[in-house]
Amino acid sequence: MSSTAAAETRPLTAAGRVNLLGLDEAGLQAWLTELGEKPFRSKQLRQWLHQRRVFDVDVMTDLSKGLRAQIAEHTDCQVPSAVFDRESSDGTRKWLVGLESGNAVETVYIPERDRGTLCVSSQVGCALDCGFCSTGKQGFNRNLSAAEIIGQLHFATQALAAEGRDRRITNVVMMGMGEPLANFRNVVAATNLMVDPYAWGLSRRRVTLSTVGLVPALYRFAEHSNISLAVSLHAANDRVRDEIVPINQKYPLAELLPACENYVAKTPHHCIYWEYVMLDGVNDSLSDAKQLVKLLSHIPSKINLIPFNPFPGTRYEASPRDRILRFADVLQKAGFIATIRRTRGQDIDGACGQLVGQVINRRNQGKRGATPAKA
Ligand code: SAH
Repeated sequence: MSSTAAAETRPLTAAGRVNLLGLDEAGLQAWLTELGEKPFRSKQLRQWLHQRRVFDVDVMTDLSKGLRAQIAEHTDCQVPSAVFDRESSDGTRKWLVGLESGNAVETVYIPERDRGTLCVSSQVGCALDCGFCSTGKQGFNRNLSAAEIIGQLHFATQALAAEGRDRRITNVVMMGMGEPLANFRNVVAATNLMVDPYAWGLSRRRVTLSTVGLVPALYRFAEHSNISLAVSLHAANDRVRDEIVPINQKYPLAELLPACENYVAKTPHHCIYWEYVMLDGVNDSLSDAKQLVKLLSHIPSKINLIPFNPFPGTRYEASPRDRILRFADVLQKAGFIATIRRTRGQDIDGACGQLVGQVINRRNQGKRGATPAKA
């Protein structure tokens, strides 16, 4: 990475210091090289910061005194803090994580018998305005820095440890607020740290990015990452998808599907995880299910049907359970692995599409229905 590129991505704190937490291996190496230090120190620093979660330079005794002085002088490690915390009756935890200038995003922890999944936000709000998602309704303020994204893992790890219960983060899904591929560089740096053996060390199978399908960014992502990919499909034809996922008007299915196939071909994954929210009378008929079978027949796929979580002001309704089951049955009989997502944390508005945070909107003055600009 050139030093210019590193400087551009380098996250600064409000005091103008480098927030070391947001630098991945390449970013740290570039910063160390500028200081005249050996790039291999990056490995020690990642271990201190992300494995031992020690931020006090005086404790980092395997680094030279000179480097420790530079770290003390030029850097900070800022972990966001919670302004609000709720626990669902099913054990799901939701934190409202405070950021600078009055914004806040939501981070959700979902405990299961054999794993603990952290659902991480990538933007304050979202600019894409999918009609059935309450995050979109909040408008958009800004991208999170890489430090603010990885900071959600630091924060949640600390919070869970402080409770003394055996709750670990084994999986991360970039399925919180925002469209991760619209915040490309910061999301790549943060997810690099998640799978980095000298940082969080999670398996790339256990870190999943979910995208609405920004086609050019999806091709770039295949060159920069190899974590699991989930794609919010939600419709089997452009007519329905144009309506419920407006970015489809810019990147229709005929462009999205090859970009997804490219990701599977370029990375060591066996399949794409498709997300399909079940909306009553909109996309849940048997003919929709058959179209979906045809659409995905040539792509290695797992399909996750998501029961719609309603929120105030929405014009959509959830599909009845028996229709979801019949839809799943069509997919399964055609040979797909199709699952129905168990809704978690609904009583604390922590479920899919219910995350709203605290967004000072800077786009569309909070209006709904504004479609993204065409290319
Ligand atoms: N912007 C990314 C990341 C958000 S992930 C994306 O679109 O994939 C959140 C997932 O929950 C997406 O699949 C989204 O479409 C889905 N979702 C949004 N609102 C929902 C709602 N009200 N009920 C159920 N699922 C919803």
